[in-house]
Amino acid sequence: VILHIALPTPLDRLFEYRFDGLEAPPLGARVRVNFSGRPMLGFVAGSSAESLLTNKKLKRIEELVDARSLFQAELWQTLEFAARYYQHSLGEVLSQALPSAMRQRERSREPGIDYIVLSAATDSSALHRAAKTSAQGALIELLRFGALSTIQLDAALPAWRAAYQQLAKRHVVERFRVSQFDPPPINHSRPSLNVEQQAALNTIHSKARYQAYLLFGITGSGKTEVYLRAIQQVLEKGQQALLLVPEIGLTPQTVQRIRERLAARVGVMHSNLSDSERELCWQSALAGRLDVVIGTRSAVFCQFPDLGLIVIDEEHDASYKQMEGFRYHARDLALKRAHLRGIPIILGSATPSLESLRNASANRLHLLTLSQRARAASLPRIELIDLRTQSQQDGLSLRAEQEIRAALSAGEQVLVFRNRRGFAQQLQCESCGFVPHCPRCEQALTVHRKAHALKCHYCGYQQPLHSACPSCHSEQLAAIGAGTERIQDALAQRFAEWPIVRIDRDAIRSKGALEKALARVGDGAPCILVGTQMLAKGHDFPKLTLVVVIGCDAGLHSLDFRASERLVQLLFQVSGRAGRAERPGRVLIQSHQPEHPLLQLLFKQNYTEIAQHLMHEREQTKLPPFAAAAMLRAESADVLRLQEFMQQARALFPVSQTLECFGPMPALLPKRAGKHRAQLVLTSAERGTLHQAIKSWRTALPALTRADLHYSLDIDPMDFS
Ligand SMILES: [Zn+2]
Ligand SMILES: [Zn+2]
Repeated sequence: VILHIALPTPLDRLFEYRFDGLEAPPLGARVRVNFSGRPMLGFVAGSSAESLLTNKKLKRIEELVDARSLFQAELWQTLEFAARYYQHSLGEVLSQALPSAMRQRERSREPGIDYIVLSAATDSSALHRAAKTSAQGALIELLRFGALSTIQLDAALPAWRAAYQQLAKRHVVERFRVSQFDPPPINHSRPSLNVEQQAALNTIHSKARYQAYLLFGITGSGKTEVYLRAIQQVLEKGQQALLLVPEIGLTPQTVQRIRERLAARVGVMHSNLSDSERELCWQSALAGRLDVVIGTRSAVFCQFPDLGLIVIDEEHDASYKQMEGFRYHARDLALKRAHLRGIPIILGSATPSLESLRNASANRLHLLTLSQRARAASLPRIELIDLRTQSQQDGLSLRAEQEIRAALSAGEQVLVFRNRRGFAQQLQCESCGFVPHCPRCEQALTVHRKAHALKCHYCGYQQPLHSACPSCHSEQLAAIGAGTERIQDALAQRFAEWPIVRIDRDAIRSKGALEKALARVGDGAPCILVGTQMLAKGHDFPKLTLVVVIGCDAGLHSLDFRASERLVQLLFQVSGRAGRAERPGRVLIQSHQPEHPLLQLLFKQNYTEIAQHLMHEREQTKLPPFAAAAMLRAESADVLRLQEFMQQARALFPVSQTLECFGPMPALLPKRAGKHRAQLVLTSAERGTLHQAIKSWRTALPALTRADLHYSLDIDPMDFS
């Protein structure tokens, strides 16, 4: 038999290999082959009795790894569709849909996680005497409160294995394997539903076949409760459910809450897990040992014996789009899977994407609305602070400072939102004007004062913080613009009697640090939270009544066509943090342009109205969702080579009345990590026309490339950076 193998290479074709068996293995089974002298794992994607190659040229399949397909029929069809739609090699698409451990290892181990535990019957002081080395003592100390997984031990005590070997010989500790997720005890309390929530749920329950819903509910309206009830219904029928959440939204508390509420076996899948933890979840779901999987983007490839529902929380979130390699959108692939499987899917958001709103108005999505805040809380009041008439220091206006003091004195909590980490945006010499730039990206370096460094936020380059100007040796260096670090310092000086908790990627570096920081806020005592968008989503602070937004003006002027949509969504999310319980909330937005139409619309707290405004702009400019778009991105250290490639690529694109091509133009970040970057934007009012044109056009691109030039194609790009 001749097998057609999909290999994880950028080459978009199948490869023929000879298989010494009587019949072809099933589609989607893994095989080990030799590809250009390298061993590689590929997937069976077809078979035939004959080959165009001579028998001599045809290599043998070295090993059949799986006897069965790794993909259920509907996921296989979804992935074949994805390879065509995103114009990406099938081998890479299939490979991306598997946990990385299964892409590399040839035979996957029996799923399970090993735990280490102290042997029963001895008390801990006796155990401590048994320790012959300090590492052994440390291991015993760690295990005193219960079993820990090998993964947790790797993080807590890197030298634990040697200590474990010695202690295990003396029967002080034992190892055991857990191969399934046990459901927690049933928690009977659940909030009652209001009329709108009940109506939404009834609609969802009324149909068991494919139907896509857009659950459009303002922050605090209880979308999660609707998801949970819908999931519960599916579990009662003996089916399973998949819940996708954005990157930042997934905390252990969220998972624990859902696990207890559903009393179900819940698996978790996100990028912070180890390869083996991800594989365990994937395998367990497939084997029917899980009722629900909660996960970020890549969990969309999880399989279940009888999947009954898919829920996508915060469907507008940009993290659902994979930005490199196989650039898929998890929401769009989830819709495809639900359709092929014939099951309902719920997209939920307080600020739906313009794409989904348009689909709702075209009846491709059934719109369900939640307009009431649960628990009778009212929406926060928004106020704009005009920075042209207010003095400010370290990014904070006098007015904001007064309001913060009043809230703290009243025993309430405050959130200061600034979506930029570091101390200052840039350093500037006051005598000669010199500004230190990243040598690789040509962007101003961000000042990180605590770390005594100047850092590039685009490529990670860093250098020590100057004490004198490298150009004129003056010591008058000014830090310009305030990041979260500086705002925290400034607040600490002014509000010394209250705790200040900062949450951003610099302050929260280790696993568990976010939980610790949130726990400090959770007790409700007055305090100030300072943070970036890490704070904007999903966290509930019942005692938070005041939100101050600093430095959002940049989002009003970005060249990225989605920037204003993102800014509005972010501001709605942040505002939604205020006044979630019985206390009314207030939001102060500092701006140099309070008369800007978007900020004026924000005032009214009516997302539908803002969306219509943005929609109108997109229609005028013929941008998504009013056109299909794709982007060719390229980068090279050699700017002439880059320009030449882009010009040639453009010349080959069949521009017509229905097909447009913009560019080549420099990317929003024209240089990154030493490479010049440029892009072509391709659009058409008809998606099919665009995709067909790209399909033939892209086959000509490999011939145009040269050494040190890298390009990629992005279908439905999420940003123009
Ligand atoms: Zn100078
Ligand atoms: Zn850089």
